[in-house]
Amino acid sequence: SLNIAVLATGDELINGEMADTNTSRIAGILGAHGYTVGESRVVGDVEEEIESALCDLAGKREVVIVTGGLGPTEDDLTARIAAKAFGRRLVLNDEALAQIRAFFAKRNMEMNPRNEKQALLPLKSTILGNRLGTAPGFTLHQQNCDLFFLPGVPKEMVDMLEQQVLPRIQQRSGGTAPLQERILKVFGLSEPRVEELFDGQTLPTGVALAFGVDFPFVHVKLRASGESAEPLLDRAEVQTRQLLEPYVFANGQETLAGNVGRMLTDAGLTIALAESCTGGIVAGMLTELPGASAFFERGAVTYSNTAKHDWLQVPPEILQNPGAVSEACALAMARGIRSTAGSDLGLAITGIAGPDGGSPEKPVGTVFLALSDGQNEQVKGYRFSGERDRIRRMASCMALEWVRR
Ligand code: ATP
Ligand code: MG
Repeated sequence: SLNIAVLATGDELINGEMADTNTSRIAGILGAHGYTVGESRVVGDVEEEIESALCDLAGKREVVIVTGGLGPTEDDLTARIAAKAFGRRLVLNDEALAQIRAFFAKRNMEMNPRNEKQALLPLKSTILGNRLGTAPGFTLHQQNCDLFFLPGVPKEMVDMLEQQVLPRIQQRSGGTAPLQERILKVFGLSEPRVEELFDGQTLPTGVALAFGVDFPFVHVKLRASGESAEPLLDRAEVQTRQLLEPYVFANGQETLAGNVGRMLTDAGLTIALAESCTGGIVAGMLTELPGASAFFERGAVTYSNTAKHDWLQVPPEILQNPGAVSEACALAMARGIRSTAGSDLGLAITGIAGPDGGSPEKPVGTVFLALSDGQNEQVKGYRFSGERDRIRRMASCMALEWVRR
């Protein structure tokens, strides 16, 4: 496999202002395609530091991915330092300049003359276009090493890595990557429980199994290499889905909210939410999706009893006893939001996220969900464990899972 290093640059990454997330994103994306990062470094915006890191890494690695410092300001030094490190002149790259101009023209924005600086690249670089920002990246070959220079902005970096760097790396390593990975996402089973379910299962020969957690989800990772990796993984995926049915909700690229959104859109159904303890998290997850207006009608954050009464017509008797955290209240909330919104589905969440407010009968983590489509209604109480954060996240995902099922 290729010998790869990542170099993240930026003062903000070493002075405690900001965590370097680019390195792990890069390692994750490359890992998913079967490449392992052998080394990563973080340096500040200091000329000597960046220069010596570049020289050192170019001398001993086959691929180096550098992020940060391609911007238009004084502290964006990367292209100039790369030129110096490898004894190349810094030249105005016409293609890069044209791309920067086009970026501003397309948005009807005035271009600051400083942005021209972003088109100054080391001699014999190839530009890597940037669809999402002004700074073009570039790549150059030095000794036995391909260096890729990407912007620091995570979104831009990821897009360029996937679209432009990855194909070049794959070409260099001779077509297909050595290892392929398929991820199946699981909700509703703990990691040890998932592992236990695999006991006594024989996966197709050549398929390796690994687990990971992205709370509240468990990821089942199936890996295989070589010519027949695809069909082997197909078979392993079918087997895994059968084994963990109905807990597998997505493959690697998909999300729970995304799948719920797609299902609702396909079915032509609309949903309205009444959220108490989750404070709009579910609404946020659903409206993050482009095209959410096709299925998302509204979401009410009804935290107080007054709000539950005023906005959702929850009867005062229910709010008094059994109280706002109860089956009866969740059901009344789901009915209330559904009829106010005129949506197909009404979904309600009410509970105690803590750390205060629990009681012996209703400890912290008690959450009631209710879903109504006018004819069928379901309501259920849960007792989630952990801190406020986890309880709210768990409740939100469980609510989405109800809709998905
Ligand atoms: P710009 O055109 O925005 O100046 P740039 O290539 O010069 O792009 P930087 O200035 O280094 O990139 O970083 C831009 C922003 O991207 C930073 O403010 C920071 O928020 C983010 N960023 C940079 N490097 C990283 C990193 N390693 N991890 C996470 N975020 C990063
Ligand atoms: Mg910058």
